Amino acid sequence: MRPEDILVPTPSGVCCKLGAFHIDPTRPVERALITHAHSDHARAGHGAVLATQETLDLMRLRYGDNFAGTTQAICYGESVDLGGVKVTFHPAGHVLGSAQIAVRANGLCVVASGDYKNVADPTCAPFELVPCDVFITEATFALPVFRHPDADDEIAKLLGSVALFPERAHLVGAYSLGKAQRVIALLRKAGYQAPIYLHGAMESITHYYASRGIALGELRAVRGAAKAELAGTITLCPRSALSDVWTRRFPEPLTAFASGWMRIRARARQYGVALPLVVSDHADWDGLTATIAATGASDIWVTHGQEDALVHWCGTRGLKARPLDIVGYGDEDEGGGETAAEGGVEP
Ligand SMILES: [Zn+2]
Ligand SMILES: [Zn+2]
Repeated sequence: MRPEDILVPTPSGVCCKLGAFHIDPTRPVERALITHAHSDHARAGHGAVLATQETLDLMRLRYGDNFAGTTQAICYGESVDLGGVKVTFHPAGHVLGSAQIAVRANGLCVVASGDYKNVADPTCAPFELVPCDVFITEATFALPVFRHPDADDEIAKLLGSVALFPERAHLVGAYSLGKAQRVIALLRKAGYQAPIYLHGAMESITHYYASRGIALGELRAVRGAAKAELAGTITLCPRSALSDVWTRRFPEPLTAFASGWMRIRARARQYGVALPLVVSDHADWDGLTATIAATGASDIWVTHGQEDALVHWCGTRGLKARPLDIVGYGDEDEGGGETAAEGGVEP
């Protein structure tokens, strides 16, 4: 049996004909297995959805109760049999509920990792290494220039700025699912105890995280807060709000943006961000290459991002590698296309 007999790459996602399912399809299908709730992976309109409880809940928050015909929740480590194919979900360390999906048939194992990172994150279960024959990896930051610094050091920069400018309001742009909550949790971990303010677009998902036991401390809505009350505070908001009239409600706003892309100074300048914070929910170059090597896979399929450099690296290591031409990934989280995420999904 060849890997392609288990999973076939198509332009709208990988498909398992034996098990009659797709993984993270970009068009509506009868049965979808979803790695995580970012909108480029999790779309509404499938007949049946199999995902972790958190991913199902987050999809429901974003798309409403009728986002799929039927849903089935699966735990990490749990397996289901679909047409003789064994499917198991494992933590991906990307955002709350994010999973890698291992697909096994006839002694062959293919792991679709979705988006992942191999560094600690207080808001989600840590990445689990799953030995496999074929590893499907993302490539969002797959260039040697991307080496993410320690997130705690970036949070220390933010707190340093808050201490330096006690009269100013700090506005931190962050993706509304995952990044915003991670920044809040890291601030708490660093000992910051003041209330943290939320843009309206951040409220429901952040409160959902808190309801799942993630320690986020006291959260307040910016809506309704008096201008004077916001002096010296930290507010999480979508990046698009940083250049909006919305900022006028804050005293002397100072803008920050938490993203792996802040490694690129030109990008920070282009966005007009005063305080770039390099905090990413994707593996960096070292994380990607170390993970690929550690899986033991001899065949690497590369999706959404800088496929070429990673495919080339695999070749130098004697690994078979191919880019998958899946159209539509990377439109949310840090995958580059912020327009779709901030114009479309976030109110
Ligand atoms: Zn993602
Ligand atoms: Zn993605």
